Amino acid sequence: MKTINIFGSTGSIGKNTLDVIRKNKKDFKVLGLCTHSNVGALCAQIKEFSPSYVCVVNEESAGKIKHLNKKIKLFKGEIGLREFSSINCDTSLMAISGISALKPLMINIEHAKKIALANKESIVTAGDFVLDKAKRFKTKILPVDSEINALFQLSASQNNFSKVYLTASGGALFDYKPKDLSRVCVKTVLSHPTWRMGRRITIDSATLVNKGFEVVESHQFFNLPYENIGIVIHRESNVHALVEFKDKTLFACMYPPDMRIPISFALSYPKRIDALQTLNFKGKLSLTFEPLRVRQFPLLDIVLNGAKRGGNSLTVLNGCDEVAIEYFLGNKIKFTDIYKAMNYMFSHYKQAKLKTLDDVFYWDTWAKEKTKEYLRTL
Ligand code: NDP
Ligand code: MG
Repeated sequence: MKTINIFGSTGSIGKNTLDVIRKNKKDFKVLGLCTHSNVGALCAQIKEFSPSYVCVVNEESAGKIKHLNKKIKLFKGEIGLREFSSINCDTSLMAISGISALKPLMINIEHAKKIALANKESIVTAGDFVLDKAKRFKTKILPVDSEINALFQLSASQNNFSKVYLTASGGALFDYKPKDLSRVCVKTVLSHPTWRMGRRITIDSATLVNKGFEVVESHQFFNLPYENIGIVIHRESNVHALVEFKDKTLFACMYPPDMRIPISFALSYPKRIDALQTLNFKGKLSLTFEPLRVRQFPLLDIVLNGAKRGGNSLTVLNGCDEVAIEYFLGNKIKFTDIYKAMNYMFSHYKQAKLKTLDDVFYWDTWAKEKTKEYLRTL
């Protein structure tokens, strides 16, 4: 029986993780649950899973929790999050969204034996710091993101591949003409054709910023040169990644678009547990692949160029993207203004090295302020 701490338990990945645990109670026990402010959902989770520790980062929301069983310790606010991150456990599932995951993750590396890492922004903005620290503390970090998890599954049997392909569904706007994009509303962009995910990642899937981030994750986790990481459009999302061996044989990792499968693998590794659903061949199953037209996705191009520039580039782009998406979700800007903000940022920041983790937070704050300033001019 492994003890599990879930960071971001009320989000899309958090809920999927609890469903995996619900169906594998003899393998996993929830030790801690952490959320930002959704105490309604959190209270229902506490009732069902009886954790020993609970953390609510928004202090006002924490105040709304009433009649908590005395055996449960409640942590509140940013200080509480630091304490919650210091609890020893077998496995942590890190599914806080955005760069807010970075500080708790860095602390948690010292206290969890294994971290199932869904959050990708921590790897995009500070991958070297995260992975170096994990190495020093001998903490295993397993990627949950389905494409990177697929690479991990493929590498578990044979790891001498030279090239990999990540698949991309193309997101909600794949069939839209560029001239129609300025008119798309929030609801349209959030209607992902194959995955049900949190709001930011769904918007990032429409611009393919998300795929750019996954290229960075693949580079960081597998030490692959950027030119050996390809992207292929695969609308059905049944194949998550492919690896190519020296003799040009391709191996693909397939399962339905259901995050509970990579989550199960990350939690149970090196064992495997029963899957919740599978691709069966009772009906017709078509798999289509087509080349990616990079010109259709200018933000993917920016992220990939940022990755090649290195230093603070990705931290700055992530900060800009986070703010622009927040404004779009709040109906303050048009969808195409996200493109404008990222273009503006990419041509107006000063390239710098990231020497310490503080530099990451400095450039994140700088980019967010600069983006807000720019968006006010539109
Ligand atoms: P959601 O927005 O659905 O959930 C985010 C979770 O994090 C919520 O529980 C939220 O709490 C909590 N949270 C947000 N900010 C903070 C904070 N500052 N401190 C503590 N908790 C916080 O996101 P997803 O589940 O979709 O994604 C989570 C991460 O996993 C992202 O980095 C995403 O890129 C990555 N990922 C997600 C996939 C998916 O299928 N959803 C696939 C691959 C990667 P509250 O509910 O109170 O707001
Ligand atoms: Mg993914």
